[in-house]
Amino acid sequence: MSISPQTELKDIPKITPNYLKLLEKLELHTVEDLLLYFPFRYDDFSKTVPISEEYLDQTVTVQGKIVKSKLNRIFKRRMSIVEIIIQPARNASHSDAGGDENNTPLKAVWFNQPYIHETLQEGMGVRLSGKIVLNKKHLSMSNPAWERAERETTNTGAIIPVYSETKGLTSKWIRWQLKPLLQIAKQIDDPIPHEIRQKLNLYDLYTALQQIHYPDSDEKLIRAQKRFAFEEMFLVQLKTLQVRSSWAKEKAVAIKFEEKLIKNFVNSLPFKLTDSQRKSSFEILKDLENLKPMNRLLNGDVGSGKTLVAAIAALQTLSANYQVALMAPTEVLAHQHFENISNLFASYNFKIALLTSSYKLVNDDDDDITRPKLLEKIKKGEIDLVIGTHALIQKAVSFHNLALIIIDEQHRFGVAQRAYLQQKIERINDGIRNKIPHLLTMTATPIPRTLALTLFGNLDISLLTEMPKNRKPIITKIISQKERIQTYQFIKSEIKKGRQCFVILPLVEESKALTEVKAATTEHKRLSEEIFPEIPIGLLHGRLKSKEKEFVMQDFQDKKTKILVATAVVEVGIDIPNATVMIIEDADRFGLSQLHQFRGRVGRSEMQSSCFLFSNSSTQNAKARLKALEENVDGFKIAEKDLKLRGPGQFMGTIQSGLPDIAMENLTNVKLIKISQEEAKNTLKNDPTLKKHSALAKSLQRFNEKIHLE
Ligand code: ADP
Ligand code: MG
Repeated sequence: MSISPQTELKDIPKITPNYLKLLEKLELHTVEDLLLYFPFRYDDFSKTVPISEEYLDQTVTVQGKIVKSKLNRIFKRRMSIVEIIIQPARNASHSDAGGDENNTPLKAVWFNQPYIHETLQEGMGVRLSGKIVLNKKHLSMSNPAWERAERETTNTGAIIPVYSETKGLTSKWIRWQLKPLLQIAKQIDDPIPHEIRQKLNLYDLYTALQQIHYPDSDEKLIRAQKRFAFEEMFLVQLKTLQVRSSWAKEKAVAIKFEEKLIKNFVNSLPFKLTDSQRKSSFEILKDLENLKPMNRLLNGDVGSGKTLVAAIAALQTLSANYQVALMAPTEVLAHQHFENISNLFASYNFKIALLTSSYKLVNDDDDDITRPKLLEKIKKGEIDLVIGTHALIQKAVSFHNLALIIIDEQHRFGVAQRAYLQQKIERINDGIRNKIPHLLTMTATPIPRTLALTLFGNLDISLLTEMPKNRKPIITKIISQKERIQTYQFIKSEIKKGRQCFVILPLVEESKALTEVKAATTEHKRLSEEIFPEIPIGLLHGRLKSKEKEFVMQDFQDKKTKILVATAVVEVGIDIPNATVMIIEDADRFGLSQLHQFRGRVGRSEMQSSCFLFSNSSTQNAKARLKALEENVDGFKIAEKDLKLRGPGQFMGTIQSGLPDIAMENLTNVKLIKISQEEAKNTLKNDPTLKKHSALAKSLQRFNEKIHLE
């Protein structure tokens, strides 16, 4: 049978139905999908050495003949141990092997993998990769990677790829399947045009795939990663440019700025606007006066008061009798916006609705209403302001004279998703002929200015660079384990004063959501039973349903619980001014900007707040990050530092290519972004519809499909 990139994995005889199911879980359906499934890290087993004490504590590959092989079962502990002893073969094939007199043996053991014993028989040549250690004076390896010496080096003896595994599907299996399929990659058209590859000295697709899966050396691996990083950025930029040029051809309704209306509103607030809020509001109100649709990003630190600026824009639009839609990344946040904004606009006669999968509410109605009824009201214009999650634009809601869309993105979207979103908005059913709504997006990630200009090109940006005056800077401290008890004492005293506390636990990995839930549950139990038995403690994690989360949040807001244990999925935008203490466990596992986001949950009132960082890591980078957080309160400064420490990856958002973060962080420097932008501009200038670049057009199409918002 002839295999092509489009061949379905189910048609490959070597892949059994059991494995097919696992592959489907990873969304791998075709040969091409598998080829584009990238390793997330590598084990460097490329150093092949003779068995010798010289290599103690180093990760290496050795080769030899099995002189002894046995299987021990320890029934009491339900354990099995496979143990082999190898010695250099007489005619050792590796060139740097010692002389004939080298007879040093090496012992290798594997725990609970009894099947290994069936393969590794005495007399057989074998290659082992792992760390050589001294065990009771013998050189040994524990759980090394292994393969028969006469086989090609697939699992040992080279830089070995490690794939993100799902239960039952191992890296070893993937390597074994991939190797014979790799040459099929020759048949895939390279999306990066030949001239660009040549100009930038990039690997072609086939070579790059070879080196990604079976790197010959570190240098070649990095070159391959660079190629894919470029491809990713190139697609992002193409998409952004295409959307930008179509946006520029659109028209919006012009909404007149009524100074008196806005002044009255601002004067009715219990506080004064910050200068930044005043300036940003003005910029937005000026944009709304144009027939050109606004596309503005409101970039301000957590707690800088973005909601109010959005409310001012909404007020002007609503007063001109147009509809407004406000979207938040989660239901909890949408609900919070609904309550806040209903309060802010209490003295106006606006009909405000909350529409999410859990809620269908209208502000002046006590009863829940059905989804079809609410949709009908929106369509007829009986609702003025619709608040919801991003599903509002995903799910073809029909609007009535919708003139402004506000997206509180809470730093969740990347550059690519933003472009996609904009495209959606161009096509939204806004109920106004030949017009599209103005767009205001808000982000809580301060993006360094230099980077923002590069990433977003000519997108308009308003900055909130200052905090409301009544805030005291949060005291941040890195805490050693010894000071844990003292910290708990401090929390007790704060709670006595009527304050509240967050305990944040790290999200280990997305796929390990269950472990994370368990960690949170365990910590909740420990704190409730051992540390604070007399204090009611809430628990919030990603596995709770929206309504359950809402109850947990409500209890915390109502001060029924005093401490909230939450995983990293805690809704970042929540506003509980009475919370004044935060503990972040294993703080080193988070990026700097993310830590800053968490910290922004406290310090939201005139009370003094504190943030304690626990960490067990002693790497330089982790220390530098925590130190930077300890020393800085200004989000923009922290973002600059984060850019230096981790590169721009985290500001760009989701990576589509599947390249691991480590690779992206090293490769996506600002220069790369600039170059890909330039090449994208050139390409589109000569071929606006990509007619002459069919492979690229296809790639872009697929890239489009991959950018999901939810
Ligand atoms: P974010 O920018 O993180 O979305 P919010 O809009 O939630 O911040 O505002 C945080 C808190 O600060 C809210 O409780 C809000 O009422 C309050 N706030 C906003 N602007 C001011 C101001 N100028 N002075 C005092 N408090 C303000
Ligand atoms: Mg907010």
